[in-house]
Amino acid sequence: MTIDALYPPLINGEFKAATAETFPAVNAATGEHLADLTASGQAEIDAAVAAALAAFPAWSRTPAAQRARLLLKVADWLEDNTDRLVQIDALDIGRTVFELPQDYRQAIGQYRFFAAAIMTHDGWTNSVQGGWALAKREPLGVVGQIIPWNVPAIMVSFKLAPALAAGNTVVLKPDENASLSTMELAKHLAEIFPPGVVNVVPGFGETAGAALTALPDVAKLAFTGSTEVGRLIAHAGASRLVPVTLELGGKSPNIVFLDIDDIDAVVDNTTFAATFCNGQSCLAGTRLFVHSDIYQDFLSRLTTAFRAIRVGSPLDPATRLGCLVSPAQGERVTSYIESGRAEANLVTGGGRVEVPGNEAGWFIEPTIFETSNDTRIAQEEIFGPVLSVIRWTDFDTMIEQANDVEYGLASGIYTSNLRNAMRTADRLQAGNVWVNQYVNLADGSPFGGYKNSGLGREVCKETLDMYTQLKSIMLAEQVPAPFYV
Ligand code: NAP
Ligand code: MG
Repeated sequence: MTIDALYPPLINGEFKAATAETFPAVNAATGEHLADLTASGQAEIDAAVAAALAAFPAWSRTPAAQRARLLLKVADWLEDNTDRLVQIDALDIGRTVFELPQDYRQAIGQYRFFAAAIMTHDGWTNSVQGGWALAKREPLGVVGQIIPWNVPAIMVSFKLAPALAAGNTVVLKPDENASLSTMELAKHLAEIFPPGVVNVVPGFGETAGAALTALPDVAKLAFTGSTEVGRLIAHAGASRLVPVTLELGGKSPNIVFLDIDDIDAVVDNTTFAATFCNGQSCLAGTRLFVHSDIYQDFLSRLTTAFRAIRVGSPLDPATRLGCLVSPAQGERVTSYIESGRAEANLVTGGGRVEVPGNEAGWFIEPTIFETSNDTRIAQEEIFGPVLSVIRWTDFDTMIEQANDVEYGLASGIYTSNLRNAMRTADRLQAGNVWVNQYVNLADGSPFGGYKNSGLGREVCKETLDMYTQLKSIMLAEQVPAPFYV
C-alpha cells in the first residue's frame, strides 16, 4: 500500500497549493509520521470556491442521468479499492480493519442511493385556469462542507453524494486527523468529475473551515461535528442568510425492557452500540437503561461481554477495539473516566491498555459505570468506549430521563412486546429509533438529530430537498386581462 509524501488540495481538477504550509498525518497507534498535507489557507479556499462557482452553471445543467452515472463510478471505484482504503484509515485514525469495511459498504450505498434518488426527485405540476403551474427544483450553487474524523468514508459520502446528485458544486474540508483516505479518493474524483465540480481542501477548522463558512459565494453550509462548532457554522450561515445542515453530537439511550426473550443477544447488541468505532460515534448508545428486575443479571453478563472485547492493534484482524484518534481525544476520554470514578460506580475498565509496538496509541479498556442520569458522564458526549448504565423501574420516569439530555440523535429499544416498542418509540425525542437492533441504518432512511443533535436529515430522499430550492413557474396560454379588470 502506498501513501504519498504530500497531499495538496484538489482545486479545479488539479492538486496544487498556493502555500507551502503543511501539517502531518500520524499513525494513531504508533505515532509514526505517515504523510504531510497542505494546511489550506485563505488563498486555497478562495481558489476552491472560485473554481466551484465557475463550474456550477455547466454542472447544474448537466442532465441528472449523467450526474448519476458519475456517482455510480465513485461507488464502483470505492468497491474496488476498499481494502486499500481500509488499511489507510486504520493507520490514520486507529479504527480496526475488522470494522472499517462496513464504513465503505455504507458509503458505497450512499453514492448508489443518491444516483437513483435524483432520477425521481420531482418538483410539482398542476393545471390552472388558462395554463399550467409548475415548480422545478434547482440546485443552490457552491456548497461548503466540513466533516469530522470518526468515519471519513461515510462522512464524505453523506456530503458529496446528495450535493452532487442535485447539481451543486462542492468545496469539502476533511478533518485534520483523518484526511488521507479522502485525499486518495480525491485523486479519483479528479478523474471522474469536470474540473471545479468537487474541490477538497485539507486543513484546520479554525482557518480553512472558518474561511469556507465566511465566503459570500458559498450558497449552503453542511457540517458534521461537535455541537459547539455546529453553532459557529449556524451563525456563519445566519449572517449571510444561507441554509445550514448540521449533524452534531449524541448521548443516545438504549432501553432494555423486562420482556426481552434473548438476554445474551441484547447484551451483544448494547455492547456493540457503546463500543463500535472505539466509542467515537455520534450514534453510540452510551446510556443504557436496564429494567430493575433483570438489572443484576444483565449487568453481570454485560461486564463479561465488555471484558471479552479484544483490544489491540487496529491492523490485527482479530482486534475488536483499536485506539482513539489522537492523544487529545485520549486525554479527553481519560478525564471523563476520572470524573466518572468520582461521581459513579466503576464496574469494569477505566484504564489505558498498553499494546506492544503501539505505545503512542490511546487504547482504552471498554468501560462501564453504574450511575444515575444526572451525572456528567451520563449527560456529556465522551466519544470513547465508556457506557453509563442506569437502572429503571417506572416507565414514565425512565422516558423522562431518556429524554433529559441536550441531544436527540439516536435510541434503541429492546422488547418482545409491540406495545412497549410503540409507546416508547413514540415518546423518545430522537431522530432515529431502533427496535431490537442498534445502528440499523438503511440507505434512504432519514438520519439526523432532534434538539442539539442537529438540523436537517441526511441519507434520505428529503436530503435532496435540502440541496435544492423550488422555483415556481406559472405558464399562461396567452396574456390575460389584468386581474383587477
Ligand atoms: P469538531 O471539533 O466539531 O470538528 C469537526 C470539523 O469542524 C473538523 O473538520 C474541524 O476541523 C472543523 N472545525 C473546527 N472548528 C471550526 C471552525 N471554527 N469553523 C469551521 N470548521 C471548524 O468535531 P470533533 O470533535 O473533531 O468530532 C467529533 C464530533 O462530531 C462529535 O461531537 C460527534 O458527535 C460529531 N459527529 C456527529 C455525527 C452526526 O452525523 N451527527 C457524525 C460524526 C460525528 P479540524 O480538522 O481542525 O478539527
Ligand atoms: Mg477535530
